[in-house]
Amino acid sequence: MVQYDTVLIRYGELSTKGKNRKDFIARLFHNVKYMLRDHPALEYTKTYDRIYIRLNGEDQDVIREKLKKVFGISSFSFTEKVDNDIQSIRATCIRIAQESSCKTFKVITKRHDKSYPMRSDEINRAVAGAVLHNSQLKVDVHNPDLPIRIEVHSDCAYITSEKIQGAGGYPSGINGRVLLMLSGGIDSPVAAYQLMKRGLFVEAVHFSSPPYTSEAAKQKVLSLAGMVSEYQGHMRVHVVNFTKLQLEIYKTAGDPYAVTLMRRMMFRLAQRIAENNRCLAIGTGESVGQVASQTLESIACINSVCTMPVFRPLICSDKIEIIDLARKIGTYETSILPYEDCCTIFDPKNPVTKPSIEKSEKYEARFDYEALIQEAVDTDEIVIVSPESDHQDEDFL
Ligand code: ATP
Ligand code: MG
Repeated sequence: MVQYDTVLIRYGELSTKGKNRKDFIARLFHNVKYMLRDHPALEYTKTYDRIYIRLNGEDQDVIREKLKKVFGISSFSFTEKVDNDIQSIRATCIRIAQESSCKTFKVITKRHDKSYPMRSDEINRAVAGAVLHNSQLKVDVHNPDLPIRIEVHSDCAYITSEKIQGAGGYPSGINGRVLLMLSGGIDSPVAAYQLMKRGLFVEAVHFSSPPYTSEAAKQKVLSLAGMVSEYQGHMRVHVVNFTKLQLEIYKTAGDPYAVTLMRRMMFRLAQRIAENNRCLAIGTGESVGQVASQTLESIACINSVCTMPVFRPLICSDKIEIIDLARKIGTYETSILPYEDCCTIFDPKNPVTKPSIEKSEKYEARFDYEALIQEAVDTDEIVIVSPESDHQDEDFL
């Protein structure tokens, strides 16, 4: 494998200028450094349109995998920084060709410094001739295995042969805070990832119903939160006791409306917690039509209890697409572990698929849910998780 001494990072969707651009770059810089925090030898430089990281011997493969997870990076390349005289450029290009296992190459030069004494095509020819003489590679100008790119600056040159696609999106946290309803299922961790990708900082709320749901089920959710927190650093998870509300709903309403009422209560609770924690929107892993509570009629009836925007990044995704993404971000295997959820314990046999707001309100008028909501919010347990935190207790394992 070709060894390089520097990483060159290109920014993502940067149509913004002025202060927004500055904020974007500052946040991205911070997030990159956080992701690479276990590599103290790295040296960072940021410029108007790039971040450069000097590797100082750190493992290229490890750095590559970590950088692929940082939102806001459009692409990055491993590159060799050399003096900009033609001898140094040529020597490095020969080494890259010799170290690579490719069969064909092409030299592509871009001059950032237009006063450089050689034109781009002169550099291309000089370097290509030297590579041909000193390696087994042949020239292929249309479809080279190894495109050797030379960027000439006024004080140095960067030589690279590979462009790696970044995660795209916005640097996590740049677009404000959202409270995600996080269950132990497949969908909501994927929704967390999608929200983070758009630069939102995700805080989570999980509704548990002890003793009907176990401590292990809660640990599973915290473990999932820890996994996705990798993309933003850490995550605050509010664990809210939902038992009393749930029991009251089952006592008061008939089986068909139980899920609708439960979810209306979840949204009321989420809005209250969001307001108390500077979150301007609620997020969920809902996908239209997936289950009875996610028909359009259900979503409308449930959504009507809250005034905040609700972000549903998976609303139009097929289950198979969601599973693919869950596998990619590494949450799938944990999501499918068979622990009970508050919704599965009280799983009604005939949930209504077209609930009405009037009927829901009629049931809700029969008990003092406000007091129970307040009690649940007041006893909310806040757990801060990070990729390093180990939430797996013996029970869970
Ligand atoms: P998931 O795979 O995310 O659990 P699901 O397909 O099982 O989703 P539902 O159980 O109807 O669908 O949940 C829809 C959404 O409601 C979830 O994606 C999540 O955002 C939220 N939700 C469901 N149960 C809980 C819970 N116990 N705590 C917090 N949020 C929940
Ligand atoms: Mg679920």
